Amino acid sequence: MNVLLYLLSAIFAFILAARTWRSDRRDPTRRAFSGLSTLLGFSYLAFAIYLVTQTLQLRHLHIIIGAFVPAATMTLLHRLLGGETRSELGRRMWVVSGVLTAIIAPILGAGDLLEMQQELLPFELLVSTWAFLGLFWCVRWLWRRYQDSDDDIQRARIWYLLALMAAGVLFSVLEGVVRAWGRVGGEAAPFPEGFPPVGAVLSVWVLYLLHRVVELYRLIDIQETISRAVSLSMAAAALILLDVLFGGLSDSPTQGKFELFLIFVLFLFFFPDLRETLNGWVSQHINRQGQRLELTFREIERSLASVITMQDLESELLGRLHASGRVPLASLYLWDQGVFRLTLERGVSNLPMMRTIADRPFTDGFREGERLYALDALKRRVDRRLEGHEVAAARARTLEAMDAELTLPIASGELVLGWLNLRADPLAGGFSHEELRRLRAILDRTAVVLENLRGFEQLKEQHRLAALGTMAAGLAHEIRNPLAGIKGAAQYLEGDVNREEIADFVSLIVEETDRLSDVVSQFLTYARPFEVHTQPSDINELVTRTLDLIGAEGHPDEVELSPRLTEKLPEVPIDRDRIQQVLLNLIHNALHAIDGDGRVEVFTVNDYVRRAGHSRPAIAIQIVDNGPGIAPEDMEKLFIPFFTTRPRGTGLGLAISRRLVEAHGGEIEARSKPGQGAAFTVRLPLAEPVEPPHPAEDEEAPEETSQSTIRSRLRLRTAR
Ligand code: ADP
Repeated sequence: MNVLLYLLSAIFAFILAARTWRSDRRDPTRRAFSGLSTLLGFSYLAFAIYLVTQTLQLRHLHIIIGAFVPAATMTLLHRLLGGETRSELGRRMWVVSGVLTAIIAPILGAGDLLEMQQELLPFELLVSTWAFLGLFWCVRWLWRRYQDSDDDIQRARIWYLLALMAAGVLFSVLEGVVRAWGRVGGEAAPFPEGFPPVGAVLSVWVLYLLHRVVELYRLIDIQETISRAVSLSMAAAALILLDVLFGGLSDSPTQGKFELFLIFVLFLFFFPDLRETLNGWVSQHINRQGQRLELTFREIERSLASVITMQDLESELLGRLHASGRVPLASLYLWDQGVFRLTLERGVSNLPMMRTIADRPFTDGFREGERLYALDALKRRVDRRLEGHEVAAARARTLEAMDAELTLPIASGELVLGWLNLRADPLAGGFSHEELRRLRAILDRTAVVLENLRGFEQLKEQHRLAALGTMAAGLAHEIRNPLAGIKGAAQYLEGDVNREEIADFVSLIVEETDRLSDVVSQFLTYARPFEVHTQPSDINELVTRTLDLIGAEGHPDEVELSPRLTEKLPEVPIDRDRIQQVLLNLIHNALHAIDGDGRVEVFTVNDYVRRAGHSRPAIAIQIVDNGPGIAPEDMEKLFIPFFTTRPRGTGLGLAISRRLVEAHGGEIEARSKPGQGAAFTVRLPLAEPVEPPHPAEDEEAPEETSQSTIRSRLRLRTAR
């Protein structure tokens, strides 16, 4: 029975070691933990096998490994509670253990070969005494920390660890003494079957607690583990009762039952962890679910660099997290005009989420360095009336109002820019320490992206104002020209004119008025908000129809107008009238550009619309002419309203075309080789364009700004 207990203890120690090692082997605290668990694991394993085979070497191995346990414990404790620095005390203990085993191990080895048993006992005792002294030293160090600590919660936690560790050491000593006595005193000794390995069970328990401290983002909670231990003991006692009632597993009376009890406790205690570990392996090797989030993190990290708009951020950060299947709801609150505003969200909310949150006191914790608010931890604090429970209660309420379980700040230095809220998939059971660490790293990058975006927005605003100035100047010019014509004609009519001249001047007035009205209505087309009503359409058919229309209008005979269509293209969701308007604009431009002989070709092909890091399938329509092309210095101005090189042009055609194409989630691009011609490409995505989140109904003017920033998308590429 004891063998089983030692074996179980060894297995659990190994599991904990492996788990911590796997999660992040670069972290020195985790390395220290893995080291200690591995040592304990080997020590118990050696002893378990020794109990079965009675091989002396294994018992000695158990003792020798045990000699290093205090040093490893001290190193870990120091890492956990004494700051990040290396422990001088721990280092010295390693040296003593090393020297001691370097001397004793060969003696024990030689003694084993010569089959001396009793003679080796003093040496064994020497090493064991050192081990226990070292452990007492650790307990003492912990006691000091307990006394020095000002923080009540921390004190309570250290006390708990201290008590368990002291009990573990005490029981291990007792067990050692009883064994030694048994070997010296033979039959007269108490516990002829050996003292039950309570010490080992307690040590594994301590190890488990330390593991929780290392792995979890929050410190261990005493009540939680005690209540767990109580319920486990009750379950184990119930199993023992069954065994007593129905007989079976152990025949020996009290001690056997007690050991069985310990086995049950150990097994039940670790059962959920075993299950978790098993789940981990299964998921890693069979469905790879666990790796999906990691993959998502990597994708996000890669694509964040190319985020240039809020919409990109929405799809790259929230969209990807949501798509990982682990986050049913993600939302982003950002600082905007004195409050934090719900700016982006992905997923389905259970309730109407609060849209604006006041800066303080909610963000105070972030300013004090807290790197996350977790709803369950906050609630626990409130339930137990721990220190700061009022603040915790207020935070918990805010989290609930945002339908969030976890809130992670996005900060740039001292400045809190906003935060990311997450709701975890209940089946996946929250996020591990490692996952949260990755998320934080991502949010640090997001802070940089947001800062850049803010810079971008300011730049865009400057551009918008500059464009408005140019536009106003252009509009004034476009209106003044015909007005001057009209005025001139009217003035002329005031004088002595014959009937024929009157007719000429009146028709000039009508013509110029038409031009005026044309400019104004084109301008309105550009400036007014509009909706697109899409329906799946055959692009080839639309191109053919447009070319027929231009053919019917008539164009110079010297210009050849030919379709070059790819057959069997998928249908594209478009507003046909608007895309036809775009095609008419582009083909007219090409025809205007060609002076004399020439050729205009219209291609349709499968293509992609490229967006921050990923692409969407699309259909491209390309209008290629062999006209004079576009001067390099004009390339950047093409899509700016009122830019024109034609005497009777308005300069609105391309600006309008771009607006229409972008409303379809597509893009328009111009290329040209001066002297050889120009090519304009319109790409229209196959899937429906993603709608930006709707503005809140209860929000006023400022919301408009943030929504319009979401909607707008810089298309630097098109101007290139
Ligand atoms: P408009 O045709 O009224 O001038 P647009 O916005 O349609 O206004 O075009 C703006 C300018 O772009 C044109 O004046 C011309 O200089 C240039 N452009 C457009 N298409 C072509 C083309 N196919 N070849 C050469 N230049 C072009």
